[in-house]
Amino acid sequence: MFIIDFDDTLFDTHAFKQVLTNLPEDLYKQSSRIKEFLFPEAVSFLEFLKETNQPLILLSLGEANWQKTKIDITGIGRFFDLVCITADAKEEVVGKILNDFKMKKDIWFINDKIEETKKVIQEFPHLKPILKMSPKFSVEEYESSLMPYFSTLTLIQQYVEQQVK
Ligand SMILES: [Mg+2]
Repeated sequence: MFIIDFDDTLFDTHAFKQVLTNLPEDLYKQSSRIKEFLFPEAVSFLEFLKETNQPLILLSLGEANWQKTKIDITGIGRFFDLVCITADAKEEVVGKILNDFKMKKDIWFINDKIEETKKVIQEFPHLKPILKMSPKFSVEEYESSLMPYFSTLTLIQQYVEQQVK
């Protein structure tokens, strides 16, 4: 199973926020541009994960309507067995997902936020974290997290490919 974050993992939220500086008005004016901020390799990455025949879960923290708009416009919802948008801490939601899917092993957790990922792994130590580097954090912070971290989805794909062999 792959539990994947949306903002700054599949979608370049950092760049997007620099374009949309006047939310929420800009959201409607610029909504057609939302698609451009999906990371270029996001679709091929999701296609690769889909081929593993494992459940794919999109786990996004944020305001439901706004998150749903972004996810719908980018068209990536079709890859996922479950799209979960939550305002609660991710470690709380992950427990529910694991329960619902009755998954015990080979559960990957792909996210950009270091502390949030640490909390999930503390709660569920059998999960395999992968960090997608975001400009919000320094390389040193990723390094000291002691979790695998990568600058692109393509590198994450290569890492997963080696691990699942
Ligand atoms: Mg994120």
